[in-house]
Amino acid sequence: MAAQGRLTDKVALITGAGSGFGRASALRFAAEGARVACVDLDADAARRVAEQISEAGGTAIALAADVSAAADAERMTEETLARFDRIDVVFANAGIPGSGDAADTTEEEWDRVIAVNLKGVWLTSRYALPHMVERRSGVIINQASVGGLIGIPGIFPYAAAKGGVVSITRQMAAAYAPDNIRVNAICPGGVYTPLVERSRQKRGLTAATVAEANAAAARHYPLGRLGTVEDIASLALFLASDEADWITGGIYTVDGGRSAVG
Ligand code: NAD
Repeated sequence: MAAQGRLTDKVALITGAGSGFGRASALRFAAEGARVACVDLDADAARRVAEQISEAGGTAIALAADVSAAADAERMTEETLARFDRIDVVFANAGIPGSGDAADTTEEEWDRVIAVNLKGVWLTSRYALPHMVERRSGVIINQASVGGLIGIPGIFPYAAAKGGVVSITRQMAAAYAPDNIRVNAICPGGVYTPLVERSRQKRGLTAATVAEANAAAARHYPLGRLGTVEDIASLALFLASDEADWITGGIYTVDGGRSAVG
């Protein structure tokens, strides 16, 4: 779809911007006029996306940070404010796969997945919130998953973290609505990204080819296909834009109908 300037004059901070949904959203937000802070644990990946935005005529910076570390989260916020003077949109998207069921998940796996996928989502907006409260304006989008809404075997710590993201999104929306800050969550279904590839490997799911594995996974989706990164970026863009001005506390599936059928 042709860009329409839907984020003109906005500044967006996006975590996990080096790959998958975060990358697609960074490119899309920038094409719609936003200046973008591309944050990723992988400094090179963040830099490549920021360069791609610049080459296309947009404005972006690359920041290396681990969202599970408070000091990193504070620094990435301060560096974004130092460069752009404001933060209008925070997309807490960074995440990792998490495998196992209740009886076999290790304590180490639980702690790491919760640290990145739940604590990291909180920390991502933690240091931008006072700035948003002061300006009485801001949008926060938290990346959850259908795995946080319905029971899917084999992703126990991931389900715990994403269910937690759903819950903190509602709490944050209620707490910060008086400050005119909107907080919503996205719950994607399956999109073949590096995260899904790692998840399949960790869960021991083997198929002869990626195409076969994707076709098998697509059978769970009423619309008959897996998603694309653009499907997710489109919803993030809408929630980030002023078109969603009366939308807060929402938990939005973008999953080809997956969660409707369980
Ligand atoms: P991806 O692996 O393609 O991208 C994730 C990015 O996050 C990577 O660039 C990685 O370096 C970065 N990252 C990982 N840990 C980090 C950390 N501690 N600090 C900063 N950056 C970190 O994954 P994706 O598929 O684009 O997933 C993005 C988000 O969407 C995740 O939260 C994931 O749980 C969620 N999600 C993905 C799917 C799917 O099917 N792909 C479905 C539902 C939800």
